[in-house]
Amino acid sequence: MKRDTADFGIDLGTTNSAIGVLRGMDVEIIKNNEDFDYTPSVVHIDKSKSMIVGRAAKEKLDKDEKNTYAEFKLQMGTDAEFNFERSGRRMRPEELSAEVLKSLKADVKKRLGEDLHSAVITVPAAFELPQCEATNRAAQLAGITFSPLLQEPVAAALAHGFQSESDRVFWLVYDFGGGTFDAAVMQVRDGMIQVVNHGGDNHLGGKLIDWAIVKEIFIPAILQEHRLTDFRHGNPRWSRAIAKLKQAAEEAKIRLSNSESAEILEEFPDDDGELIEFEYTLRRSELEKLAEPFILRSINICRQVLAERRLGTSSVEKVLLVGGPTKIPYLRERLSDPRNGLGIPLEITLDPMTVVARGAAIFAGTQRIDNQEASVPLVAGQYAIELEYQPTGPDPEPLVGGQVMPQNGESLSGYSIEFVNAEARPPWRSGKVSLTPDGYFDATLWAEKGRKNNFQIELLDKTGRKLESRPDNFSYTIAVGLGETLLIQSIGVAKANNEVQWYFEKGATLPLRKRFEFKTVDDLHKGLQGESIKIPVVEGEHKKADRNPLIGYLEILSADIKRDVPAGTTVEITIELDKSRLVKAHAYIDILDQEFEKVIEMKKPTPDAVVLQQEVEEEKQRLERIKDKVASTADSKVLNVLETIENEKMLEEVESTLDAAQVDRDAADKCQNRLLSLKAAVDKLEEAMEIPSLVAEANQITDWTRQIVEQYGQQADQRKFEILERELNNMIQSNSTNPTELSRKIDQMDALRMKLLTARPDWWVGFLAELEEHRASMTNPALAEQLFSQGMRSVSNNDVEGLKSACRQLLQLLPTQEQKQLGRYGAGVI
Ligand code: ADP
Ligand code: MG
Repeated sequence: MKRDTADFGIDLGTTNSAIGVLRGMDVEIIKNNEDFDYTPSVVHIDKSKSMIVGRAAKEKLDKDEKNTYAEFKLQMGTDAEFNFERSGRRMRPEELSAEVLKSLKADVKKRLGEDLHSAVITVPAAFELPQCEATNRAAQLAGITFSPLLQEPVAAALAHGFQSESDRVFWLVYDFGGGTFDAAVMQVRDGMIQVVNHGGDNHLGGKLIDWAIVKEIFIPAILQEHRLTDFRHGNPRWSRAIAKLKQAAEEAKIRLSNSESAEILEEFPDDDGELIEFEYTLRRSELEKLAEPFILRSINICRQVLAERRLGTSSVEKVLLVGGPTKIPYLRERLSDPRNGLGIPLEITLDPMTVVARGAAIFAGTQRIDNQEASVPLVAGQYAIELEYQPTGPDPEPLVGGQVMPQNGESLSGYSIEFVNAEARPPWRSGKVSLTPDGYFDATLWAEKGRKNNFQIELLDKTGRKLESRPDNFSYTIAVGLGETLLIQSIGVAKANNEVQWYFEKGATLPLRKRFEFKTVDDLHKGLQGESIKIPVVEGEHKKADRNPLIGYLEILSADIKRDVPAGTTVEITIELDKSRLVKAHAYIDILDQEFEKVIEMKKPTPDAVVLQQEVEEEKQRLERIKDKVASTADSKVLNVLETIENEKMLEEVESTLDAAQVDRDAADKCQNRLLSLKAAVDKLEEAMEIPSLVAEANQITDWTRQIVEQYGQQADQRKFEILERELNNMIQSNSTNPTELSRKIDQMDALRMKLLTARPDWWVGFLAELEEHRASMTNPALAEQLFSQGMRSVSNNDVEGLKSACRQLLQLLPTQEQKQLGRYGAGVI
C-alpha cells in the first residue's frame, strides 16, 4: 500500500511494546503472532542459537537468565552490554530494542503484508538525550529509516484528544509503566494539544512494586522457615531463585488487580541442593501497603508539575491513565482521593496498555514521508508537483501550496490546477487556480469532519487539456493538532566551579540551534594520545552541575587537530536539537581555521559501585547532621522537605539499590539516580535551614543592639536602629526572603552595635580579656606574649589607641575559624 504519511505508531516500552496503524479515523492495534495486543520487550537466544522475542522469551527469564534479557530500555544510551552466554553474543541495549522493533515489523508483514520503513516511536518524557539517540539507532538497525520520536504522554493525550470536543481544558497524563513514570500537563486549546509541563522519574514503575514484594514479604517469609546463607537480591548465588520470586511477585500483583488474594507456589534448591517449597497467599492489603510509597512519589511528581504551572487540581479536567499498574484498584482510589491524592476525575476509556501506541499512530498520520516515488523517473508528459500541506489539522479549510515543476525551462503561465474532494456530499471542487510562470500555486481546501478526505489533483495546460501529475492526490483529516514541541529539561555544560552554563532552557520550542564560544584551559598538543578538549554536558534543572545527570561530552581530540592549540584559544561550538530531541554539534577553531564535525557524544557513564557506596555513606552522614539541627526548628518549609525525604523513603531506597548495584547495572543506574534526588533534597534542606538560623541570629543581634543603643546611643543611633529593625522584620515576615540579603541586613545591624561599643574604651578592655581565653590557639606565642603585655600596659596607661592596636594584631594570630568564632566582634572592628 502506498502511504503519504508514516501511519504506524510504536510504543517501545520497557516491559511491553505495541504497534498501531491509523486507518482513516481509527487506530487498529496490530496483534502479534499469539494474538496479543502487546509483546513483552524481552529477548532470548535459545539452544539452537536463534533469537526469540516476546512472551516465549519472557518465560525464559527466570529459567535461563544468562541467555534472556528484559528491561534493556532502562539502559538505552549507556555503554552497557548484555552477554548471551550460550551464543557468546554481546548486545547493546539499542540492538536488543531493534530486535523488539523487528518483531513488531514482522507482525505488520504478517497481518498487512506491508514492509515497515516508517513509524513514529515513543519515548518516555523523562528520557534524556542519549536515550533518544539510542532509540533512533535502534530504529535504524531495525530498518525503520524514518522514525520521528514522540513523547509517550503526548501520544496518550492524542489518543484521547484526537476527536475531542473539549476545548480550553487541562489534562494530566499519568503514566505508570514497568520501569518509568511520567506525568504531563496537557493543554487542549483552539483545537491544539500541547504539553505545557512535564516531569517524571526514569526509575519508578511496576517493577519496584515487584521487588518490594520479593524483599519485604517473600524473602523474610522464606527465611523464617529455612536457613539459607546470605539469601538476598544482589547475591549472584541466589539470582535464579530470586528471579523466580520476582516473576511470581509480578504475576501475583497483576492477579490482585482483579481479586482479593493471590496464591504463590514456587520451588528452588537450598544451600544443600534440596528443593524448598515456598507457599504464600498474598493479600491486596499487603500489596497496597508496599505500593504506597511509590504511588505517593508519583502523586508528588504530579503535584509538582502542576505547581510549576501554578495549576490547582481543580483546573484539571481529567487524568489520563497509562501503563499496566494503573489497573491496580488501590492506585485509582488513591489518585482520585481529594484528600491525599489528586482528586481529579480519571479517564479510563482506552486500554492503558495500548493507548500510547494508538496516539503514536495518530501522530504518524501527521508525519509526511518522502515518497520513494520521487526517485522514479517521470513518465513522458508527467509533471512532478511539490506539495506543501499538513496532513492533519484542526482547520476544516486548510491551505495547500506548492510548485508544479516546469519542464525544460518552459513557462507555466496559463496552466491551472484544481483540487477535488470527490467523496464529499456533494462533491467539492476548489475551482481552477492559475499557476505562476514558475509553476507556483496556493489554494484553500474544504474538508469534512470525521473522515480522511482524499483530494484529487487535476492539472490543466493552457488549452484546458488534462495533464498527468505526480502525485495526483493527497489526503487531509480534521483532527486536534499537536502544538509545538517543547524542551522538557534544560541542557547545559558543567563549568569547573560546579556551576552550569545553560544553553537550552526548559520550555524552549524545538528545534533549537545555538552557537557559543569558550576558551580552552590547557594546551592541546597535536596528535598526543589521550589529550582532548572535553566538556561535560548535563541535563536537568539544578544550579549545581553535579546534581544533574551527566549525559555526555563535547570533545575535540588532539588526534584531529592540524596544529597545537595553546590554552586560552577560542572554540566555537554549534549545537542543534531536532524535534525528536536528537542532538548534533560541530565546532570551529578560528586559529586553525578548522571545522570539527560530530563533536558531541551522548552517553550515560557507567556508575562505579565503589564510588557509589562512598557517596551514599557521605550523604547519609550529611542528612544526619542536618536532622540534628532541624530538631530545633518548626519552619514549615524545612519540615516539608524532610517529610518528602522520609515518606518517599529516599534514603532507604538508595541503600537497598546500592546492594543490588554490585551485580545489576540497572540497579547501579537507579541507585545513582535516586542518590542525585536525595542529594538535591538534602541541598534543599540545607538551604531551607539557612533562613530559620538566620532569623534566630537576626533576633539575637537585634536584642543586643537595642540594649546597647539604649545605653550608649544618641538620637540618630536610635533612629537608625528603628529603621534597621523594621527592615529586618519585613524581611523575616516575607515568604521570599533571600538569605544573602537577610545576612547583609544583619551585618548592618551588628555594625551599628559595634560602632557604639568600640567607641568605648572599656569595651576594648573586655575584648582583650576575651582574646586571652583564645591564647592557646595563637600561631606565634612569642609575638602573642609581647602583644598581650603591650595591651595590659596600654590599659594601665589609659592609651586607648595602643590597646586597640594590640587587640587587632592579636586577633590576626588566631586561625580563621576562631577569628570567626570571636565572630562579630572581629568582623565589626577590624
Ligand atoms: P512499560 O510502559 O514499561 O512497557 P506497561 O505499561 O506495559 O509498561 O506496564 C508494565 C507493568 O504493568 C508491569 O510492571 C506489569 O507487572 C504491570 N501490569 C500489567 N498489567 C497489570 C495489572 N492488570 N495490574 C497491575 N499491574 C499490571
Ligand atoms: Mg509505557
